[in-house]
Amino acid sequence: MPYIVTVQIIFAGVRMRFSPYPWTAKDMIGGNAALDFVNTASAWSSGDPVCRLGGPGAFADWAALAGLADEPEAGRIKAAIVRDPDAAQRLFAKAVKFRSALYRLFNAVAVGGDIDVEDLSALTEWTRRAARYSELGRDGKGFRRFWTEEAPLIEIQLFAIAEAAENLLEHGPLNRLHACGGDNCEWLFVDHSKNGRRRWCSMATCGNDAKVRKYRKRQKKKAA
Ligand SMILES: [Zn+2]
Repeated sequence: MPYIVTVQIIFAGVRMRFSPYPWTAKDMIGGNAALDFVNTASAWSSGDPVCRLGGPGAFADWAALAGLADEPEAGRIKAAIVRDPDAAQRLFAKAVKFRSALYRLFNAVAVGGDIDVEDLSALTEWTRRAARYSELGRDGKGFRRFWTEEAPLIEIQLFAIAEAAENLLEHGPLNRLHACGGDNCEWLFVDHSKNGRRRWCSMATCGNDAKVRKYRKRQKKKAA
């Protein structure tokens, strides 16, 4: 996923590189909402990742695409952002920090590196907060957790991301957690393919780029 132009943006004191990206549901390739959230930034290994979300509103739109809020919920979240933009910006800055912790955690799992306990604590803090604002309720013939009325609207998407992260760490399959090998991509995904040898975030983007590179190399060899 190559990026084009980056600018510096600051949210509640957190400075980051930003480059816009036209998110669609097709970009949700992580197989887990927490990985899709990590994938809203790229070039992680450079140490100065590029954020592909321009602020709280863009985060709310992305979260709706990622299935973390239905349409009426997304509308209410957007209204809450408009009502209190300062709180929304502070929360966005927290979301960006949380995303970095999630990246370090899952990337360490993917490459077999060491886990930083502080990153695990950051996740625990969010899952604790999520538990405080959710309760079990009837859902058709089954049950599921619902957010309580006291749940801060603009935070519930982060709660859902925290729960997805915990679920993946607890239940795996962690041996199927991979990072895309595409140039400047590094998107993380759970490989649900039969043979477990998926290498790219998507065959339509990085997979295709690799195929083209391989083809050109072969042509060059032939010409030589
Ligand atoms: Zn990729």
